[in-house]
Amino acid sequence: MTCEICGSPTERLFSVLIEGATLRVCGSCAKLGSPVRERKVTRVAVQRPKPPTSSLEEPSMELVQEYHRVIKQARERLGLSQEQLGHKINEKSSVIRLMESGKLKPNDLLVRKVEHALKIRLLAPVESE
Ligand SMILES: [Zn+2]
Repeated sequence: MTCEICGSPTERLFSVLIEGATLRVCGSCAKLGSPVRERKVTRVAVQRPKPPTSSLEEPSMELVQEYHRVIKQARERLGLSQEQLGHKINEKSSVIRLMESGKLKPNDLLVRKVEHALKIRLLAPVESE
């Protein structure tokens, strides 16, 4: 090992900061600069945010926003009147009318019945924030 300043061989090298440069120098040259601590590249562990989709939990399902349109379109596609659909799922036609106008948010049971009768999906996984 040789000193980076005087070039003399030395048993021990010191890391010193001289004019902005870190040099490995002998004991006598070390006095010329200010000692620096060996920096063992201590990288601060950066916590990477985990993607929210990594959770194994079942996504909670929520009624789609356009449920009333989905119901209406599906019903009309099947050529059913509101009365016929109501009869099919054992509900009053007024319930169907209210649902299709978006005034009535169907509960879980009603959603299931409508989904089954019209072969549609009214629930979608909730986007986690
Ligand atoms: Zn030296």
